[in-house]
Amino acid sequence: MIANTDRKRCARLLLAVSISILFSPGVNTRARLSLPPQAPAVQYSPQLVSEIKKVQQAALESDYAYLQLAHLSNNIGPRLSGSPQAQTAVEYVAAELRKLGLEVQLEKVMVPHWVRGEETGALTDYSGMAPGTTQKIVLTALGGSVATPADGLTAEVVVVNNFDELTALGRDRVAGKIVLFNAKFDQRLADNGFEGPAYGQSVIYRAIGASAAARLGAVAALNRSAGGADYRLPHTGALRYADDAPKIPAAAVTSEDAETIAHLEHPEQIVIASGHLDSWYLGRGAIDDGAGVVIAMQTAQLLKQLHLRPKRTIRIIAWMNEENGTRGALAYAEDHKADFANHFAAIESDLGAGHPMGFYAQGKPELLTALQPLVTILQSQGAGVTRMVEETGTDVAPLGEAGVPTFAPIQDARTYFNYHHTAADTLDKVNPRELQENCALVAALAYTLASMPQMLPR
Ligand SMILES: [Zn+2]
Repeated sequence: MIANTDRKRCARLLLAVSISILFSPGVNTRARLSLPPQAPAVQYSPQLVSEIKKVQQAALESDYAYLQLAHLSNNIGPRLSGSPQAQTAVEYVAAELRKLGLEVQLEKVMVPHWVRGEETGALTDYSGMAPGTTQKIVLTALGGSVATPADGLTAEVVVVNNFDELTALGRDRVAGKIVLFNAKFDQRLADNGFEGPAYGQSVIYRAIGASAAARLGAVAALNRSAGGADYRLPHTGALRYADDAPKIPAAAVTSEDAETIAHLEHPEQIVIASGHLDSWYLGRGAIDDGAGVVIAMQTAQLLKQLHLRPKRTIRIIAWMNEENGTRGALAYAEDHKADFANHFAAIESDLGAGHPMGFYAQGKPELLTALQPLVTILQSQGAGVTRMVEETGTDVAPLGEAGVPTFAPIQDARTYFNYHHTAADTLDKVNPRELQENCALVAALAYTLASMPQMLPR
């Protein structure tokens, strides 16, 4: 809509003046000073000045704009392009301007027509959930989002903080899932007057996150609201579907709900429990290191038996070629190095199956503080000793070098080297009770690492 008042045009000529001064403070010294061009002093006529002041004063005393705004916002209401309210608003503003004696002309424009349906979200399966309950997630559809199927869409949520993390996860760990972009709005940046950049670096996930997730096979996308308020308000806004990706439903969740989901669900984060499966041929590889492999296997078995679901993924690894080449560990490091940031911790047991006195840890000493409640529990089985070391196990060493905290049981190994790498490495060297103690320690450690709310220092 264009409404014209009478306008006069006047042209102004700007003169640029540069001044140079020569002066001689001493016999042999000369300096040349250049001043930037200065605009000439501009003067309005006294009549114009008086008229401007009248306009200003009248505006300061008028309630016209406020009453118009009240009609637009209270009487007509939200006015999304293409909606009946938007059309009513166009007609209202045109009529009001005509009342003022303006010549009004309505011009045609094609706009997208998108209707917000009903949107709801709920967490339906998570660690610690009371049976038969769900938790409401406050969300709002993004403008232009396609709808979910009529009875909704249920899928596992994978949380990423940025596009790099999404890329690192890859199609294998994104396909079939709902991606939550949990990029926090930088309120400090906004508080310092950089609200534009703060908004920009957050809103990008709303704008193009859905297509980025869809390219890797995600079934829906959520973004943490692009805004700093903490009133559990989801912020809508437009999304842009790319031509090269399927259109998937997309919604913004409140910062509080994004925090909750991120707290509950970290399937992309991995805790390794492991031992090495290969052994020297003289014996039967019972203590070196069949024991380590079955200890790791029992961690998985126990969690299944107890129906416990940690919020992170526990990955059981039976390493190959520890004894003569470490090829398994090196291949793993090569194949998964892009995902090392998501490797939360790694455990390897490779010192037999003697009574465990506690665990070795490699990484920042603060690890032990974070694990103190576990240590207290382990004391009840005589396994409360902790010790920081440079390396906990050959196969997890590449992870340790990459900054992943690594752990190993401190086994009673006083007789271990009598048998290891000999024909006497046989099952009878394993005390079943002590093997159980090792399983208890590794399973408790792995479950703690996979469930603790805090991140580990690294
Ligand atoms: Zn070994």
